Amino acid sequence: MLPFYSAIKTILRLKRKCPKCGKEQLVIPSKKNSTVPCKFCKASIPPPKEV
Ligand SMILES: [Zn+2]
Repeated sequence: MLPFYSAIKTILRLKRKCPKCGKEQLVIPSKKNSTVPCKFCKASIPPPKEV
């Protein structure tokens, strides 16, 4: 496994796609399990389900 692979996985987990406007954005790590407001349209974006 490449050294940066886990960092990429962490970033992907922080990536959130707004269900309303469809824009993707990163959330801060401390908010990764919380619903966050969309930066663009202020809609609530729920945390992704763990796979
Ligand atoms: Zn949005």
